[in-house]
Amino acid sequence: MTSDQNRILLVHPLGYSPTRARGDITRIANLMPPLGMASIAAYLESRGLHADIVDCVAWPESDGLIRELLRDRRPGFIGVGCTTFGFADAVRIVKLAKAESPGIKSILGGPHVSALRERVLRENPDVDYVVVGEGEEATEAIMRGADSGPAGIPGLIYRAGPDVAFSGFRERGMDLDRLPFPSYEKLRGYPDVYKLPIFNYPRSPSASCISSRGCPYQCSYCDRSVFRRSFRFNSAEYLYEHLRYLKTRWRIRHVNFYDDQFTFNRRRVSDLCDMLTAKPLGITFNCAVRAEHIDKDLLRQMKAAGCWMMSLGIETGDPEILSRHRQNADLDLLAERIRDIKNAGIRTKGLLMMGLPGETEASIRRSMKYVFSLPVDDFNLTKFTPFPGAPIHETIREFGTFDEDASKMDCMHFVFVPKEFTEARLNQLYGEFYQAHYRRVRVWLEYISMLWRSPESWWRFLVNLRTFVRFARASKGSEEDHR
Ligand code: SF4
Repeated sequence: MTSDQNRILLVHPLGYSPTRARGDITRIANLMPPLGMASIAAYLESRGLHADIVDCVAWPESDGLIRELLRDRRPGFIGVGCTTFGFADAVRIVKLAKAESPGIKSILGGPHVSALRERVLRENPDVDYVVVGEGEEATEAIMRGADSGPAGIPGLIYRAGPDVAFSGFRERGMDLDRLPFPSYEKLRGYPDVYKLPIFNYPRSPSASCISSRGCPYQCSYCDRSVFRRSFRFNSAEYLYEHLRYLKTRWRIRHVNFYDDQFTFNRRRVSDLCDMLTAKPLGITFNCAVRAEHIDKDLLRQMKAAGCWMMSLGIETGDPEILSRHRQNADLDLLAERIRDIKNAGIRTKGLLMMGLPGETEASIRRSMKYVFSLPVDDFNLTKFTPFPGAPIHETIREFGTFDEDASKMDCMHFVFVPKEFTEARLNQLYGEFYQAHYRRVRVWLEYISMLWRSPESWWRFLVNLRTFVRFARASKGSEEDHR
């Protein structure tokens, strides 16, 4: 039977063995749908092509389903999304597809391959194309077999005889209001199977939503390979309709805007809030902001429109390190805005990193002091990871040792250890940071208030208590082993 050149199978790889998935705390605590793939699928369908999606993160034992879809639907293409952590698994899935359906063309996309570009094809003979940047138009052009050949498809790495070529960056991104809403119906189990982090939502079903692409800043640790430094966004009108669709079609009651800079365009957020206040949808929302792009009036409007929690990238409480790694490093402004958010009645979440180049024990203590002096209700402390597309990746070895093992590049391992540290000491301090947070009375009062503000979170927490305790013990054990 010949393959269907109008059909693609899109796969979101798990990144590790399915047997590990059941006890994987990151999956239990936070499971987000592959919205980029759902957007590509919706776009292709709107253009008369066909797409199926297999999300192996939500459904770890999916190899059988992938084989079944390859056999039954005979797609001419397989597209796999790649983070650094998931890359090896993506290549494995491509091999599996080629063994099951010889002749199928493979396309990889996502941040990791957008950063590594030509190297991906040179080192992986089973990969036929890499899409650099956003995937909707490039995937359509590949599937239709552009008259001009691959060289005429912007943002494509392809094979040219024995060589590998790059057609160059796509100059203009799409008008996001022209995109159909993501194909949520292609995500098995949506919305119930997907979960926001515990204590990060008041009620369910909850959903993630992306309403803009890109960020004009350039922090040293941030991989901008997909959207580069552009910033495009959905209009307030489009976004209101998207939320209405999520509510009426999918029963969604809380949305997490997964945008890098939700309030970068103040006007559209203000207009959206006006709409949500005038014609409420019964939806609350979270978003991530930068201190420079919020003010008291906007916060009041957002609260009235249903804003429940805001995340801010603090990264570190050490002014010197912060100014080395990002623009407008003003910790006083950040502190003032965090207080403004809290005073507006919105929950605050701080996003921090440990182990940046230049980090010292004193800078870690400074970060603890800074964060604990602020009304931060929740925080997420990641282990700094120099991803291939981040500006700092180029020079990272000047500042310490770097074990570039992709299977550990999930922000849960110190793959980079700054000079004057050992990995063991960093892990110890990491544990101390969290322990100090949970020892504070204010934090416990806040969690107790979640009994009525987010009862389902407590339920999830208690149901998974054994896994959390096992994880905490394992982390403590490895901390002690390192001493
Ligand atoms: S870390 Fe945030 S502000 Fe900095 S470049 Fe990345 S998305 Fe933009």
